Amino acid sequence: SLMDRIFSWVFPSTELVIASDTSLEPIKATLFPGDGIGPEIAESVKQVFRAAEVPIEWEEHFVADEVDPRTGSLLTWESLESVRRNRVGLKGPMATPIGKGHRSLNLTLRKELGLYANVRPCLNLPGYKTRYDNVNLVTIRENTEGEYSGLEHQVVRGVVESLKIITRQASLRVAEYAFHYAKMNGRQRVSSIHKANIMRKTDGLFLKCCREVAEKYPDITYEEVIIDNCCMMLVKNPSLFDVLVMPNLYGDIISDLCAGLIGGLGLTPSCNIGEGGIILAEAVHGSAPDIAGKNLANPTAFLLSSVMMLRHLNLNDKADRIHNAILSTISEGQYRTADLGGTASTTDFAKAICDHL
Ligand code: NAD
Repeated sequence: SLMDRIFSWVFPSTELVIASDTSLEPIKATLFPGDGIGPEIAESVKQVFRAAEVPIEWEEHFVADEVDPRTGSLLTWESLESVRRNRVGLKGPMATPIGKGHRSLNLTLRKELGLYANVRPCLNLPGYKTRYDNVNLVTIRENTEGEYSGLEHQVVRGVVESLKIITRQASLRVAEYAFHYAKMNGRQRVSSIHKANIMRKTDGLFLKCCREVAEKYPDITYEEVIIDNCCMMLVKNPSLFDVLVMPNLYGDIISDLCAGLIGGLGLTPSCNIGEGGIILAEAVHGSAPDIAGKNLANPTAFLLSSVMMLRHLNLNDKADRIHNAILSTISEGQYRTADLGGTASTTDFAKAICDHL
């Protein structure tokens, strides 16, 4: 039922719960509206939070026009300080130009804030039919290294080299998080996704670390699945999977595949888990330049990300209320955005959610 699905979402952090439903003081959280459709969907979150009387006070930070020499990116030092101070944030998509310019903003955030794991729950939405009605899985992506270490150079003309870095420390940390998450959420199986038959050293080390951690969790079934086979199995029968843990690049790709199983990128939230209890929630999708500024974006993924943030803060009543309003609005079907086959604008849809609170 609708309610079962809502309560099957447990807050994702292993660390520190900062607030509770009974606290009276507003909680400060950092908001990056981000690029492209970011400001439009951030407006939806602000509107829904106001309507639900969520005790959050946003500290808004924008992507700058010029590189801040203190961070080496378009993210200002003040914005990073804001997340470090508040330890909780919601981040809109940030565009990364292909093949040029400064350091990727997403990479900067992950590195600077030690955001080591990215949790991406993927569940069917009740009342919204896709080819699959049995999707209930969570991908946990290593967030700091692998092919995304940013170490690329030209060797000689016509030959470039890119370094894939896998460390024992980062692999153990994300594996530990995945098993802990599985345990906390009553999930039974963790699958480690890899290509260690070819990437013997790098993915080999990743697997070795996952095996080490698996031994500490005898109640959870551990398995290893080669990534190409994993894609085939996901498309054939997603219910074969429960929690999936994997290196950075694979997580990026597999989680978009999973989004496709339940209706697309407009629907899938995520939360980055950082050192010292920092969390930064964000949608899986990017800045969607093709529909930016047109009031067409589906704010569901971003709203569900904000719900993950509220669960982390232990504001569960507010989280349940908003989550339920989102699901009911989509389920009823009168207000759906274009990506779900409807005609509602971003603002129509956000208003419908407020009416369902
Ligand atoms: P994208 O996720 O922005 O868009 C892919 C497709 O999905 C587009 O057709 C888009 O219109 C659609 N889509 C995405 N979100 C939607 C929503 N909420 N509602 C309706 N439709 C939605 O991926 P892209 O086009 O490959 O990337 C665009 C930019 O975003 C690039 O600069 C990329 O680097 C960046 N990006 C950022 C993040 C992030 O900040 N975490 C993630 C992915 C991509």
